[in-house]
Amino acid sequence: YQAKNGGANVAAYDSARDAASTDQLALLAELREALQADDQLVLVLQPAVDLATGAPTGVEALIRWRHPRRGLLGPAEFIRPVENSDQLSTFTRYVLDKALAVAAGWAREGLDVPISVNLSARSLLDRRLPGEIADALRRHQVPADRLVLEITETVVMSELEVIDQVLTALRSMGVQLAVDDFGTGFSSLAFLTRIEVDELKVDRSFVLQMADSREAAAIVRYTVGMANELGLRVVAEGVETAAQRSALVELGCTAAQGYHFFKPMPADKIGAVLGSLARQTPTNVLPLRADD
Ligand code: C2E
Ligand code: MG
Ligand code: MG
Ligand code: MG
Repeated sequence: YQAKNGGANVAAYDSARDAASTDQLALLAELREALQADDQLVLVLQPAVDLATGAPTGVEALIRWRHPRRGLLGPAEFIRPVENSDQLSTFTRYVLDKALAVAAGWAREGLDVPISVNLSARSLLDRRLPGEIADALRRHQVPADRLVLEITETVVMSELEVIDQVLTALRSMGVQLAVDDFGTGFSSLAFLTRIEVDELKVDRSFVLQMADSREAAAIVRYTVGMANELGLRVVAEGVETAAQRSALVELGCTAAQGYHFFKPMPADKIGAVLGSLARQTPTNVLPLRADD
C-alpha cells in the first residue's frame, strides 16, 4: 500500500495493519477499487419528518456497498476498518460528494431540504476537511446551511483541540452540526459546552426502550427539554411504531426518523417522496416550483 494522503495517516494505517485480520485487509483493498469504480458505494436516503405536519425536516444519507461478490453490505460491515485505514479521507470525500450531488438535484427540482451526512469522528482530526467541504459545496452550488454534518461524541479528550478547530471552521462556513446517537457517548453534555451545534439526534436505543424503561423515557424527555432550552432541533431516531410516535409527541419531541415513517430509499425514489410530502404540507414548509 501507498499512503496517498500524506504523513498524518501513515501511522494510523500501520497500527491498523497490526491489528487487522487478513479479512479486513482484503476488504480495504476491495474498498480502494470500489472508491474508484463509482457505482459500488451508494447512498440510500431516509427523511426525518416534523411530527406535527409530516413535512420533511431533512434527509439523512446512509452508505451501502454493493459488493460484487459479497452482496449488499451495510456500514456496520465495513465502516470500522475504513475508519482505521488510510482510506478514510478518500471515503469521506466520496460520501460528501455523492450527498451534495443529490442535494444539488433537489435544488434543481425546487425542493429545499437539508441533507445530513455522517462523519466518522476520526475525520474531524483532518485539518483539510473544512477546505474540502467548502470546495465541494462550491462545486455543487449547494448553500452551506443545506448541509448537516452528523457527528458522534465518542471523541478522545486529548484530540479535542484539533476537533474544536475543525468544527469551528465548519460552523463559520455556515455548515450545520448535529450530535448523532445523543446520550450514548461518554462526553455528550460536556461536548455541548465546547461546540455550538444545531441539532441533537436521540439515539434509537432510548426510543426502543422508552415504553418499558423509566430511565430511557427520562433521557428522551431531558434531551428534548435541553434542546428546547438551548434552541436546538431534536430528532428522535429509529421510530418504528405509532405508539413510539405518540409517546415522543407527548414528551415534546418535534421531529423523528424511522421505519414508521420511511425506510432508507434509493436516490431515484426520494425526489418523488419529498415532492409529495411538500404538496401535502398545509404550512407549505417547502417552496414548490411555480409549475408544480
Ligand atoms: P446512524 O447515523 O445513527 O444511522 C441510523 C441507522 O439506523 C441507519 O442504519 C438506519 O438505516 C437505521 N434506521 C433508521 N430507522 C430505523 C428504524 O426505524 N429501525 C431500525 N432498526 N433501524 C433504523 P445504517 O444505515 O446501517 O447505519 C448505521 C450507522 O453507520 C449510522 O448510524 C452511522 O453512524 C454509520 N454510517 C452510515 N452511513 C455512513 C457514512 O456515509 N459515513 C460514516 N462515517 N458513517 C456512516
Ligand atoms: Mg446519523
Ligand atoms: Mg443516528
Ligand atoms: Mg444511531
